[in-house]
Amino acid sequence: MSFSAIIGQDRVLRLLRHALQHGRLPHALLFAGLDGVGKRRTALALARVLNCESASSDDSCDRCLSCRKMASGNHPDLVVVEREGQFIRIDRIRDLQRRLRFRPLEGGKRVILIHEAETMRTEAGNALLKILEEPPPDNLFILTAPDSTALLPTIASRCLCLRFQAVTRAAIAAHLTGVHAVPPERADLVAALAGGSVFRALALLDDEELNRRRQLLETMARIRDVAPTEVLAAAERWSGDKGDLSEDIEWAKMWARDLLVTHLEAGGTENLINQDLSGELGAVAARFDPQDLPRLFDTLCALQGALRHQHLNKRSSLEALFFALRAGTGKDSPWHEPLLPALEREPFVRVVHG
Ligand SMILES: [Zn+2]
Repeated sequence: MSFSAIIGQDRVLRLLRHALQHGRLPHALLFAGLDGVGKRRTALALARVLNCESASSDDSCDRCLSCRKMASGNHPDLVVVEREGQFIRIDRIRDLQRRLRFRPLEGGKRVILIHEAETMRTEAGNALLKILEEPPPDNLFILTAPDSTALLPTIASRCLCLRFQAVTRAAIAAHLTGVHAVPPERADLVAALAGGSVFRALALLDDEELNRRRQLLETMARIRDVAPTEVLAAAERWSGDKGDLSEDIEWAKMWARDLLVTHLEAGGTENLINQDLSGELGAVAARFDPQDLPRLFDTLCALQGALRHQHLNKRSSLEALFFALRAGTGKDSPWHEPLLPALEREPFVRVVHG
């Protein structure tokens, strides 16, 4: 993975290349941005450039011994710390402390990637802070997180923050057609559904995943017509599905957004995400009061936020989701209030127009 393979992050790459060429890389970087926009890939690409045996400071050669070791995950000076379960364990940071007593083994720069640094709890965060306060030379720390506010302020303030943008629909579609030979119409649909994440786009090339989404949205479209017992049965059925619940809620959010767009644009289909469902969305939208849709969207965000912070039972979460849809407004859902403390609101306006 070299810089040239990173999609849609030209600004970040320009900054990094500039810092590399002028030898001005700080000792700690924070790559901030949504999941799937290339933070981890960029960190790994930077580790390669810093240790590549060819002379270029602009990109890695991907052929030398160092690059090959990086590619196979066997480079001794690339350390990846990530969560096990929900959190990054304190032991991992203590291991890191011990390793840092020694200089990089191959004489280049040791890169320590702390992926999803927001999953460090206070103890691990404080241990890392101690390291960052007196960073040993020849080490570069790269933290990834959704946002700098997700970290302890004392940690965030010691990192230079580079913000990763959501990758544009056009850039994802071009990548899918150009590199993965996906037919243009399908590439457009997948790019729209990917919500700015290349990672998601690639996962969506799997037919099974797209079919699952379609079936889920069909279930949701019918949910207002069925008896409560059937709602419970649908939740049970979907809870047995191997798919990721957070992903299901993401589908529901995009769908709720499209229902509102259908109202606002009086049936125009150009700005829909779910382009393949444009024929059906009008009839579904007509059954929702447009006033209720932002609240439904809020409930979905609340559910998704709660999922990030606690283990929710999949079945009861789906029941919450389906009953919220059935009520039209999430406000009446009995699950809405308990979820509020964990609520991570995403401004609805940004999602509609973004
Ligand atoms: Zn190389």
